[in-house]
Amino acid sequence: MEWYRQSKEELLSNLNTTLDQGLNDNDVQERLDKYGTNELKEEEKSSFLSKVIAQFSDFLVLILIGAAVISFFVGEVKDAIVIIAIVFINAFLGIYQEGRAEKALDALRKMASPNAKVIRNGHTTVVPANSLVPGDIVVLEAGDIIPADLRLIESSNLKIEEASLTGESVPVEKRSDITFDEEVSLGDRSNMAYMSTIVTYGRGKGIVVETGHGTEIGKIATMIQTFENETTPLQKKLNELGKYLGIACILVCALVFGIGLLQGREILEMFMVAISLAVAAIPEGLPAIVTIVLAIGMNKMVKRHAIVKKLLAVETLGCTTVICSDKTGTLTQNEMTVVKVYTDGKILDVTGRGYDPEGEFKLGEYTISSGEIGDLETLTSISALCNDALLEKTSEGYRVVGDPTEGALITLAGKGNIDRNEINSEFPRIEEIPFDSDRKMMTTFHKNYVPGKIVSFTKGGPDIVINRCSRISINGEIVPFDDNLKKEVLDVNSSFSKDALRVLAFAYREYETLPDNISSDTNENDMTFVGLVGMIDPPRVEAMEAIRRCKEAGIKTVMITGDYKETAFAIAKELGMAESIDEAMMGEELNKISDEELREVVKHTKVYARVSPEHKVRIVSALKANGEITAMTGDGVNDALALKRADIGVSMGITGTDVAKNTAELILTDDNFASIVSAVEEGRIIYSNIKKFVFFLLSCNIGEILLVFLSILFNLPIPLLPIQLLWLNLITDSFPALALGVEKGDPDIMKNPPRNPNEPILDKGMVSAIIFQSVAITVTSLLAYRWGLRTYGIDNPAMARTIVFTTLITAELLRANSSRSEKHSLFTIGFFSNKTLVYAMLFSFVLLLGVLYLPFLQPIFDTFALGLRDWEIVLTYAFIPLVVGELYKVIIRKR
Ligand code: ATP
Repeated sequence: MEWYRQSKEELLSNLNTTLDQGLNDNDVQERLDKYGTNELKEEEKSSFLSKVIAQFSDFLVLILIGAAVISFFVGEVKDAIVIIAIVFINAFLGIYQEGRAEKALDALRKMASPNAKVIRNGHTTVVPANSLVPGDIVVLEAGDIIPADLRLIESSNLKIEEASLTGESVPVEKRSDITFDEEVSLGDRSNMAYMSTIVTYGRGKGIVVETGHGTEIGKIATMIQTFENETTPLQKKLNELGKYLGIACILVCALVFGIGLLQGREILEMFMVAISLAVAAIPEGLPAIVTIVLAIGMNKMVKRHAIVKKLLAVETLGCTTVICSDKTGTLTQNEMTVVKVYTDGKILDVTGRGYDPEGEFKLGEYTISSGEIGDLETLTSISALCNDALLEKTSEGYRVVGDPTEGALITLAGKGNIDRNEINSEFPRIEEIPFDSDRKMMTTFHKNYVPGKIVSFTKGGPDIVINRCSRISINGEIVPFDDNLKKEVLDVNSSFSKDALRVLAFAYREYETLPDNISSDTNENDMTFVGLVGMIDPPRVEAMEAIRRCKEAGIKTVMITGDYKETAFAIAKELGMAESIDEAMMGEELNKISDEELREVVKHTKVYARVSPEHKVRIVSALKANGEITAMTGDGVNDALALKRADIGVSMGITGTDVAKNTAELILTDDNFASIVSAVEEGRIIYSNIKKFVFFLLSCNIGEILLVFLSILFNLPIPLLPIQLLWLNLITDSFPALALGVEKGDPDIMKNPPRNPNEPILDKGMVSAIIFQSVAITVTSLLAYRWGLRTYGIDNPAMARTIVFTTLITAELLRANSSRSEKHSLFTIGFFSNKTLVYAMLFSFVLLLGVLYLPFLQPIFDTFALGLRDWEIVLTYAFIPLVVGELYKVIIRKR
């Protein structure tokens, strides 16, 4: 359909909708049924069958199946059946766990999916973008990603970047008032906005004309993937480690096989032992467990208000050395209240708290009544007119829809008896230059304020606005704004800022007629200065605590803000981020130094004020060049580059733009600095947990190999039958290892410096711990075996095998507890504080008892029911690796 050729009236009647009311819920439901949801469907998930096939195409599994087939043909039918059963159990466990990880990731995907602002039932509301239907009226602002194909019906300086569709990266101007008579190409349809393109500037409204696969992007893409399925460096490292260990295992197994043959043992028996040993010892489950643990970790982060979009970010978070954060809303509460006004050379206090428009203007003890100070009324009028926010009265009080800074100004106007809606209909806005964080100002043009003239009202950062004013209004009289007067105003600005107030300046300019080609350079100039307001935005209490924790954790915290230097420093000081004003610098100072110099500067600067998005990119690049792992927040449309450059781009879930959310690796659902720190903590916990089960699995597997190898070397009967080895592998490698992956984290996890991302997972400490543990396991099981052979006779090794089997499994289950912390004793972390592990141990132990005591399983596993005396020995030996593990930690702690 050629929507761009229809007039607005045609569109509204064709799509059966109205501009002010939009659709109602019934319309929406009907149209959803008719047109479907506004989504580009993802690729089919791999089917159950393909998952099964994937599980069975694993090299080791194939070897096992081969072994089963051989067993079958040489008459060991029982063995063949058991091996196949174990293969199946393993495969289904694998599929189940993969499914869990996939589900967790899906849930995250849904959470991070985009929203759209629409007018429905006569109200502006936010709805999931996939619920949009043709006829919906969508409200657009800078930073939005267009949620469906729209025909524009309102536009104000609207610019849209259409690179994703047309490849053109320069934003194009869009105008709702154009209709085309003839066909034009996609890139020239300036009255349309297309799905997945980005609003870079201005505001607008559009009617949804196409959704889902009907959209232009839908026609060319089957899926827009915001989540990438990547392999993280850690996963890669583990894959590699797994490969090396696998090769080593195969060599040892071949050696075992060879020695066995030389000793004249039976070929088939030795073959089966070697294969089972390989299967048991090769840590094939490692990468799978890592993925699951990362996915579970992502879900835990959600509970702490942080949505991580990539597995990789979970890892990087744990290595973070610097967190660069915005001030407003992240470190502060973003609940603005104007408390000071400066106009007519007087500083007035404003009473009242929150957004409730009840309060007074006071000059000392004296209450100012309306009209007493002429310019106060101009200032409150500008507050209400040069403003895009709305105040909504709810049962819990007043609430801002839009920018809190502007909400506070509507409240201020209310305290001066000015109603935002009334004054806006009395003096309608006819043009505007929207706010952007580069200019740090905004201007609106109005009719009727001065009869027969057009007046523009500007508000913005004082340092910027003051420099663009040539006159000042003092009690209604206009005088030149000379240097002395400017200094006076700047001094007031400074004194407000030092009290941590966010300061805005107000000005206006009159025109005979509305100027053509309105721009900041020509029109935000030569203005008349009216006054200043100072608003408080209290720091977040949690942020203070989070910054303290960062200090302990060796993580630097840096404030990067668009706000004024003194305000920023005052808040940074209150939060404990900076001590001296020397640690603060202005964005413009960055313009004067080279990248080399900046690398030095970033080492000691804690506060960057009046910063523009390009400065952020330079700061993050300098930090990275110094080897820092940097997390950086950003919420605006221009922050995307800095977010991309940072190791961890962080965006605000509530106030962040779609663009920022799309680029960021981490989204904070509560916009709170403290949540970044929680995410870093989770990142560290996840890494240390991965280390714990790697340690557990490797020491366990090496112990098994050594046991079999040494027994063969000492010319003893084989200590574990193939089936026993496989069962042991199934029990110890899966449940306890996974339970270690959900460990809560050491109490001092945030008291150590950040980890070096290049550090190998098998560091020196871990290697020596693994050696100690595997030797302990080997010696223990050999001792148990020796006892069994002596007690029950070397000619009857079955009983001794049952004893080794039981000792080994029990020892593994017990020492899993010791693996819960690299250096803290079990007494410190608590014996039962990881409930999952307790259940995993109980479950695995019951499985063991089943194999020992169920009469129909005994012949399959070649086991015997152990008596009390056997258990005495088994338990005594089984505790040894646990005790050794704990003693080893004592030595480490002493060191
Ligand atoms: P942060 O970067 O920490 O979030 P910020 O909110 O001050 O701080 P910006 O939103 O980029 O950063 O604002 C930069 C400056 O622009 C502010 O310090 C203020 O002087 C000015 N400003 C902010 N909001 C508005 C607005 N709605 N209208 C006019 N000027 C504004």
